[in-house]
Amino acid sequence: MVTLASVSYAYPGGQPIRFPDWQAEKGSHWLVTGPSGSGKTTLLYLLSGLLTPNTGEVEVEGARLSQLSERQRDAYRARSVGYMLQRPALLPALTVHQNLNLAWRMAQKAGKPELGYADVGLGDFGGRFPHQLSVGQAQRVALLRAVQHKPTLLLADEPTSALDAVNATAAITLLLQTVRQTGTTLVVASHDARLHDYFEHEIALQP
Ligand code: ADP
Ligand code: MG
Repeated sequence: MVTLASVSYAYPGGQPIRFPDWQAEKGSHWLVTGPSGSGKTTLLYLLSGLLTPNTGEVEVEGARLSQLSERQRDAYRARSVGYMLQRPALLPALTVHQNLNLAWRMAQKAGKPELGYADVGLGDFGGRFPHQLSVGQAQRVALLRAVQHKPTLLLADEPTSALDAVNATAAITLLLQTVRQTGTTLVVASHDARLHDYFEHEIALQP
């Protein structure tokens, strides 16, 4: 369960952005919409504990993020959160396997991930470097990296904005299918109207 209560955040010198109160059941899937500048990315930062609200409280599985120490928040982020960005942001000097392995170790999980290349429709690209992948393949690796540790919360910021219509549909379908397997709560921020039909729940931020 994820809860937002009376949350607002202001960047230094900026106007406060107020977020609607919100409760997300475990395993539910949410689309965050709103025009550019409405606070979609900021909301994902608040959910990941990278930013702490000026008012109100963000609670994830009973933990109030603002009450955690910086160290506990780092651990929360590595262990309980998966993050997908607009561009895959794989480390270019590491192979696919090394990229996945590094994220796995940062999540401090024992053993090996249950999810693998086949779960995201990839062949074994483990030995390749990021520049040897197509945009779509790199995005699948980024998806695997974000979900392999079965996070409580998967946050995706404009995950389809670099993709054409066919790839965008494929990417979002795969994202939903993969999080369904893991029981993860999914929050996708996007101004992409194409995604509207794929989500049961929506949070609309005001301009
Ligand atoms: P969105 O993702 O919906 O486009 P953002 O969350 O990125 O919106 O931004 C919300 C508002 O906060 C915007 O007005 C933006 O200019 C401002 N903002 C975002 N990041 C910063 C920052 N690091 N410093 C100051 N203002 C920021
Ligand atoms: Mg944004």
